[in-house]
Amino acid sequence: MRKKIAAANWKMNHKLSDAKNFLTEFNQLLILEPLKNNAEIIIFPVFPQLFAFNKLVNNTHIKFGAQNLHQAESGAFTGEVSATMIAETGATHVIIGHSERRQYFFESNELLAEKIITALKNKLTPVYCCGETLTERENNIHFQIIENQLKTGLFHLSKTNITECIIAYEPVWAIGTGKTASPLQAQEIQSFIRQLLSVQYGKKTADQISILYGGSIKPSNAAELFAQPDIDGGLIGGASLNANDFYQITKAF
Ligand code: PEP
Repeated sequence: MRKKIAAANWKMNHKLSDAKNFLTEFNQLLILEPLKNNAEIIIFPVFPQLFAFNKLVNNTHIKFGAQNLHQAESGAFTGEVSATMIAETGATHVIIGHSERRQYFFESNELLAEKIITALKNKLTPVYCCGETLTERENNIHFQIIENQLKTGLFHLSKTNITECIIAYEPVWAIGTGKTASPLQAQEIQSFIRQLLSVQYGKKTADQISILYGGSIKPSNAAELFAQPDIDGGLIGGASLNANDFYQITKAF
């Protein structure tokens, strides 16, 4: 059985006081109506909140992680944060290759391949993001783009290491736009991703890896998406900022 995962990517949102309010409200909802589906909940706040999160989520089932890391272990990289530093906060996960990092910070598949290695060396579970832009989809090269993102960014890993990763399919045209991929569109790509994993690592390994969908998930569309056979959960941006919305999404499995 693959893990079902609801992951909240807060991006550069929520001050510490907002994060505390969110967690108070979210935990109250969980106490009132505990999740029956065993979904793993992971929150990705901004770097400065990671140490505080360790205390804030103590005694809950909530895990937390960073939204990025630098590929080097340490050194003269002003403004950057290493995997060791992230791991020492108690964080367990890290997002690698979000489309905003690819777009605004020019992160290439080759660079992301290095970041994945650094994350794993430091026992951080990478959530590796892939997805096509609208133009790429319109030009019918989306399968090729995703294949390349996976082959260059992720498939350098061994069979053991790949099972320690989570993959998130996030079509760029659906992120923060309110346009969700239809469940069938998302399923089509996610079964393609699992097929690529299967060819590279074998079916047994491919079947163990959680593949999330991300792109305008809301309480109203989560259940339909999560019902697809190759959608093992969501990476949620906008709707994860509101405790009640995120809670409703975590219940949608
Ligand atoms: C994201 O940025 O990972 C994301 C999926 O955002 P949103 O849910 O707001 O589309």
